[in-house]
Amino acid sequence: MVLKYSRRPYYADFSVTSRCNLKCDFCSASAPEYHSHVKYLNLKEIDRILSQLDELGVLRVSLEGGEPFLRSDFIDIMKLADKYDFEYYVNTNATLITSKIAKEIAKTNVSKVCISIDGPNEKIHDLCRGQNGAFQKTLSGVRMLHEANVSVDGIITLSKLNADHLIETIEFIGKLGINNVAIMLLASVGGASESMNDVYLPFEDWTNILLKITDMKKNNNFTPSVNIVSTGESNCPWELYAPLLLNQREEDINVWIRSDASTNFGEDEYFCTAGKDSIAIDGFGNVYGCSLMISETELSAGNLLEQELEEIWNGSKTFNAFRKNRLSDIKGPCASCSILHKCGGGCRACAFALNKDIEFSDTRCPMGVKS
Ligand code: SF4
Ligand code: SF4
Repeated sequence: MVLKYSRRPYYADFSVTSRCNLKCDFCSASAPEYHSHVKYLNLKEIDRILSQLDELGVLRVSLEGGEPFLRSDFIDIMKLADKYDFEYYVNTNATLITSKIAKEIAKTNVSKVCISIDGPNEKIHDLCRGQNGAFQKTLSGVRMLHEANVSVDGIITLSKLNADHLIETIEFIGKLGINNVAIMLLASVGGASESMNDVYLPFEDWTNILLKITDMKKNNNFTPSVNIVSTGESNCPWELYAPLLLNQREEDINVWIRSDASTNFGEDEYFCTAGKDSIAIDGFGNVYGCSLMISETELSAGNLLEQELEEIWNGSKTFNAFRKNRLSDIKGPCASCSILHKCGGGCRACAFALNKDIEFSDTRCPMGVKS
């Protein structure tokens, strides 16, 4: 494969369907209601795409949805992924995992199955996931996977709905025998952009939580290992850095981000990896810079049923625009922020979803107004 751009994507998110059996208000997948005429990629097309990802040198692929196990051929998709050199994960709500499916998963090379568990009990989890009974089904899925010796990680999507129960949820996940928990911060894309007031945690509330869990992590108070997945890719994502800075605790960023972590970014480059170190593909073959962009169809870089991945990676106007954008040209409040070059301009997908301009500020962040 001939690369005209000097970088190749390290990781790819592949959403094999946007259909889901749950109904989370904050979902970024914008799942269309199921219509039989909606034609998702078939196995042959998926295999071709996986092979092209492998050829492009992608190191890690996340197979996800919607809910990927709604596809009756999802185990076959995993078997296809087994043929290639990249490592792969599966993201699922686990509600459809039976003992038989867990045993099939155990026969594949999947590195781990990442399962969303948003609350320590039925009431909170089902509220977050929009369906009564989801909690019990998810717990059953976790149990089946553990019995089949499949490695499982937990993901908590933090929102207004479960913020008061975060610590309890982390401990609950630990008691399930899960050793790694990722706290996923909410992006303002897809469903979340429409229900921001109902689900998006106010900055003050997030600050209080972050200070508390930072102390707990520092003091080794958590049983499982806990990480935070912010929406930006910087070593100083504003979601972590701004609350700590405003409380004179900026050095505590090292609790969450390794101080020796390095990035590939140039001096005036946005710290967004979309179309530079990452790529995402939806169930129809559309290519995006990252999974958060999938609900913003204007950000599609091309379609793999019409073009080869190499052609899209090398020549897409969308990707070339992402690569050329400079922080010093950012529009809106970030332009006057004193830590712009430390933060890297927040999340581009969120900025676009809220302002319909990829060069505008990530207006979820209060720092632009404060500094
Ligand atoms: S749009 Fe960019 S900054 Fe936002 S999550 Fe995707 S890669 Fe990261
Ligand atoms: S205002 Fe913009 S540049 Fe400043 S910390 Fe927030 S997102 Fe980053």
